[in-house]
Amino acid sequence: MRVPLLDLKPQYLSLKKELDEAIIKVAESQYFILGPEVDSMEKVFCDYLNCKHALGVSSGTDALLIALMAIGIQPGDEVIVPTFSFFATAGVVSRLNATPVFVDINPVTFNIDPKEFEKKITVKTKAVIPVHLYGQSCEMDEIIKIAKKNGLKVIEDGAQAIGVQYKDGRHVGTIGDIGCFSFFPSKNLGGYGDGGLVISNDDILAERLKILRVHGGEPKYYHKIIGGNFRLDAIQAAILKVKLPFLDGWSQKRRENAEDYNKSFIAAGLAEETGKIYFNEKNKVLLPKAIYKSDTIKNFHIYNQYIIRVEKRDELRQFLAKNEISTEIYYPVPFHMQECFANLGYKRGDFPLSEMSADTSIALPIYPELSKNQIEFVVKTTKEFTQNQF
Ligand SMILES: *Cc1c(COP(=O)(O)O)cnc(C)c1O
Repeated sequence: MRVPLLDLKPQYLSLKKELDEAIIKVAESQYFILGPEVDSMEKVFCDYLNCKHALGVSSGTDALLIALMAIGIQPGDEVIVPTFSFFATAGVVSRLNATPVFVDINPVTFNIDPKEFEKKITVKTKAVIPVHLYGQSCEMDEIIKIAKKNGLKVIEDGAQAIGVQYKDGRHVGTIGDIGCFSFFPSKNLGGYGDGGLVISNDDILAERLKILRVHGGEPKYYHKIIGGNFRLDAIQAAILKVKLPFLDGWSQKRRENAEDYNKSFIAAGLAEETGKIYFNEKNKVLLPKAIYKSDTIKNFHIYNQYIIRVEKRDELRQFLAKNEISTEIYYPVPFHMQECFANLGYKRGDFPLSEMSADTSIALPIYPELSKNQIEFVVKTTKEFTQNQF
């Protein structure tokens, strides 16, 4: 049975008429960048996220970059980031000639550990970027408290987490000073090209973001500050407007798939429960856990990725591939071990929990349209592998 990591075709086919019409409407309007389509998309996203300002931008990476520019990050400033994330989270800091300062993760959630974050604050620290990795909120109360106490700005990297709610029901991205999202096609809400969003409840920051998005020109061709081309295409806005009303339904499907995986792995005797962090005879597979619980809030975890940990990860990946099951490694090398950050002076051993995750994590297919049979097949094949291995 073939199980792709992601198959976007069924989603397209289910909305083909509306999506095709939206694209044609943009072609007919001949208004391709920003403009009315982006304006109306921004309003729709403000309503959904319950925030004051939302601005469509060119990508999730650019969302982070423009956010750091808006809060005034300067060369030599320090910005604290988890060492375990997609490259953009740290890359944008270096691109402004500021220094990314790395922090280890909570091994259950894969998110930044607030206590470790607090230890890394110096007089040069200006901001922190909590990443809601894989689609689960960071411990925002703790992070905001520490940030406030130390006068730091909080830029939320929600690139994998649009639609995720924190334990009090607020959407991630609305809790810090600026929230950043990505609409890269493979994210849980994807456009048909690059795209991103920055959101804020702060009027002054929102105004700065708006000006920075168009090279810092305000009015046009008069530049008090230096920005960039961070504009969103109208076609992306039109597509995202069609898709947004379905996002919570897709998240629900992802969550059901994750629950099916968890139950099947436990039933197969490969794990005792979710959220274990050490391997032993009864836990050959470590299962992900949603740490927050409530009867009224559903979107605590939207499983942008479903990540298990296994000791012989690369061998398992090969074995699954031989059985036509596609997987991915998010992420094989933490920032502190990346060649481009060698000058920062970190070494293997500095952040053991991130290293353990980088060495043992594997993402299994989790997209909404995945069938129960496919999930069963992935678990069965994983079990076959462990029986041959141990
Ligand atoms: C995808 C991603 C980004 C970057 O988004 P792009 O739209 O690809 O530029 C940033 N941070 C995280 C955590 C991501 O997963």
